[in-house]
Amino acid sequence: TMSCLTAMDAGDGLGAFVHKTPEIALEQARAADARIKAGDAPAMCGIPLGIKDLFCTKDVPSQAGSNILAGFRPQYESTVTSRLFDAGAVMLGKLNMDEFAMGSSNESSCYGPAVNPWRVDDRELTPGGSSGGSAAAVAGDLCIAATGTDTGGSIRQPAAFCGIVGIKPTYGRVSRWGIIAYASSLDQAGPMTKSVRDAAIMLGAMAGHDPKDSTSADIPVPDFEAALTGDIRGKKIGIPKEYRLPGLRPEIERIWDQGAEMLRDAGAEIVEVSLPHSKYALPTYYIIAPAEASSNLARYDGVRYGHRAKLAAGDGITEMYEKTRAEGFGAEVQRRVMIGTYVLSAGFYDAYYNRARRVRALIKRDFEQAFAAGVDAILAPATPTPAFGLGEMQTANPVEMYLNDVFTVTLNLAGLPGISVPVGLDPEGLPLGLQLIGRPWEEGALLNHAHVLE
Ligand code: GLN
Repeated sequence: TMSCLTAMDAGDGLGAFVHKTPEIALEQARAADARIKAGDAPAMCGIPLGIKDLFCTKDVPSQAGSNILAGFRPQYESTVTSRLFDAGAVMLGKLNMDEFAMGSSNESSCYGPAVNPWRVDDRELTPGGSSGGSAAAVAGDLCIAATGTDTGGSIRQPAAFCGIVGIKPTYGRVSRWGIIAYASSLDQAGPMTKSVRDAAIMLGAMAGHDPKDSTSADIPVPDFEAALTGDIRGKKIGIPKEYRLPGLRPEIERIWDQGAEMLRDAGAEIVEVSLPHSKYALPTYYIIAPAEASSNLARYDGVRYGHRAKLAAGDGITEMYEKTRAEGFGAEVQRRVMIGTYVLSAGFYDAYYNRARRVRALIKRDFEQAFAAGVDAILAPATPTPAFGLGEMQTANPVEMYLNDVFTVTLNLAGLPGISVPVGLDPEGLPLGLQLIGRPWEEGALLNHAHVLE
C-alpha cells in the first residue's frame, strides 16, 4: 500500500485518480496486517485497489465523471466495494472515467481525460473508456488492480488499449447495487488486473447473489482460481466469420490467427461459427443503451443530489431542471438523453426501441445456437485498432467513436461473459488484446481459456 501511494502521487500526470483516499488506504492496510498476523487472510487481504468513480463509496466523492454529481458523497457503500473490503482489499482512491460511462476514450470526463501509460514517441494516447482511469492506473503500476464496469465494452476495450486483463462477467453475476446506473440491462462490474489469475481471484471476491439487486442471480460462485488448470484439450473454440470485417487491420488479423494457433497448440479444436445478427449489434446497442440511460438519468434534477444551477428571479421548477441539466451534463450525455427520449417517445417507440429489443433477442439466439452446437468459447479481437491519440476521434461525427465498440457490444446485448487478454504488440509497439466470449455462468472456463493466451 505504501509503495502504491507513492506511485499514485508520482503518476498524477496520467490523470487516472480523480480522488485519492490515503487515510482510508492506511487504515484498511493496518486492518489487513492485523488479519494476516491473526492467521485470517482472505483472498484480497492487503491488496491496494483503485475504484472506478461509478461505484458509490461511503462518504467519499462518487461523481461518475460528471459535474452534475459535484459534491455528492454517498451515505452507503456499493455491494461490490463492500465485498472487496470485507475480503481485505484496500482503496487507494477513485478512478477517472467517461461521464456516466458513456464513451470509449475517457475524454467525456468532467475531470479531463486519463492518459495511456503506453506511448509512441511524444504522442499522448487514450487509455480507452469508459474505464480509462482503471486501465491507466493498473498498466501504470499505480495500483495492483482496479474495478471497472462494462455496458458495451468499457472493461474490455481499455484493458486491450493498456495491455492488461479485463473481464465482464455474465449479466447478474455481480451485484449492480450502489453502482451509478447507465443502462441497467447491460451494466456489469468486473475486475481489471495484470494477470488472468488476479482477475479470477478478484472476480471471486466481487461476485455473488445480492438481494438488493433484483437482477443479481442466485447461483453459487465457484472457485475461479481453481479453474486455471491450463488444460483445454478437446475444447471447441469458435471463430465468428462475420467478425472478419472488410478492412480489418492486418495486425489485428495477425494476433487473431496467433491466438487461435495458441489455443490449438494447447489441444483445442478451432471451428468456424456464424453470428449473422452481429452486424446489427452496434445500432441495436445505440438504441437500447441511450433509452435506458435517458430513464436512469432523469433522477438528476437538481433536487436530490449534486449540482443545482443558480436561478434568476422569476425562475420556476422547470427552469431549475433545465438549467441544472444543461450545466451539469456534458455534450455526449446530453446527446444520449436526447436519443433515448426520442426512441422511447410514443411516435417512435415501435420503430426503434421495440425493434431493437427484437433484434437483441436474435443476437442472443445466434450465440445460443453456437454454444448448443458444442462451442465452448468464441475468439475475436477486442478492438478494431490499438489505442488512438488523445483528441483524434473528437470529430464532428460521434459515430466514429461508437464504431470502436463493434466487437464488444454484442455480448452485453446477449448477457454473456467476455474477457480481454493482452496478446502482443502492433508494429508501433502498442498493446493489442484478444477477446474470448464464454457460456453464461462459465467464467471459470473462460478464464482458463484466457490463461492459455497469456
Ligand atoms: N463505449 C460504449 C458507450 O459509450 C460502452 C461504454 C460502456 O461499456 N460503459 O456506450
